Amino acid sequence: MQEIRLDGFKAAVDSAKNIVITNHTNPDGDAMGSALALKRVLEKLGKSVSVIVPNPYPEFLWHLAGNDSVMIYSDGKLAANAKIEAADMIFHLDYNAYSRAADMETALRAASATKVMIDHHQQPEDWPDFMYSDTGMSSTCQMIYELCDKMEWTGLLDKESAICIYTGIVTDTGSFKYSATSARTHEVASKLLELGVEPQQLHNKVFDSQPVARLRLLGAMLDQMEVSPDGKKVLLYLSEAQCKQLGYQKGITEGFVNYGLSISGSQLTIFLREEDGAVKLSLRSKGDFDVNTLAREHFNGGGHKNAAGGRIVMTMDEAIAHSKTHLGW
Ligand code: 5GP
Ligand code: MN
Repeated sequence: MQEIRLDGFKAAVDSAKNIVITNHTNPDGDAMGSALALKRVLEKLGKSVSVIVPNPYPEFLWHLAGNDSVMIYSDGKLAANAKIEAADMIFHLDYNAYSRAADMETALRAASATKVMIDHHQQPEDWPDFMYSDTGMSSTCQMIYELCDKMEWTGLLDKESAICIYTGIVTDTGSFKYSATSARTHEVASKLLELGVEPQQLHNKVFDSQPVARLRLLGAMLDQMEVSPDGKKVLLYLSEAQCKQLGYQKGITEGFVNYGLSISGSQLTIFLREEDGAVKLSLRSKGDFDVNTLAREHFNGGGHKNAAGGRIVMTMDEAIAHSKTHLGW
């Protein structure tokens, strides 16, 4: 599904001075890559741009250009609120519902700025003044490239912004393997390589620079994995006690859920992680099984057809039982 409302967008950018770029809670490679790439482009257009994100993000993203200037809302609300209030234009990248901005929601709703949503998740909310929503896109990062193409800004991209965009594309497509990877995704990637991206180096920074704790947590998770009797569903989980004992840090279990789909015959997998009296979860599926609907109906979440997430206020035992019921164990 596509919804594109960009008439007058270029003129609105031309007249904006102070721009704020936001993304979703627990920012991932696509959220940070898109925000920092767009910041760089808008700065080349002479804008004053602040990237404000709801909470901290993992270390493997700290090498992206502009990282040092990112404002973390949970670390300093006053300064961030002042920027949000003073902005003429606010971008909402890689999310399409105010609730995904977590504690920033109130300030964002109250802001008088022109609001621009650029996102590839299903069922966007309807408040933006300008909207570029396309659920068929590999990533919000690819959409930043497409936006530059539409606005004739590709000449403003450079090696640093290309690295940001490439990072979001590789992380959101599982290195070009998920179904939203299109011929155009590869075409965009090739243009990013022409701008100077070195895939091997970047993969090394993004995927092969992990702390020891990540592999210890992975081992514990795989050790207690459960497979349904029909072999089609896979349940993965880590308790809060295990996370604490093995050195959990925010973002460190990114991608763990995908191990559930690497088993022959598996079609649906869930990864549960207990934190602060609740359970954060990730769902992934193959083919027609729609985990976006499943997440919305039973797990207080949402996302895409084959990749979604949510959060339920339950103990781990309750969450395991709840998952088995709704996955059709
Ligand atoms: P992940 O499992 O990697 O956290 O998220 C998978 C997809 O679902 C991402 O596109 C993410 O934005 C979305 N998602 C994750 N958690 C939530 C949630 O709590 N609510 C909604 N609406 N989407 C989520
Ligand atoms: Mn994304």
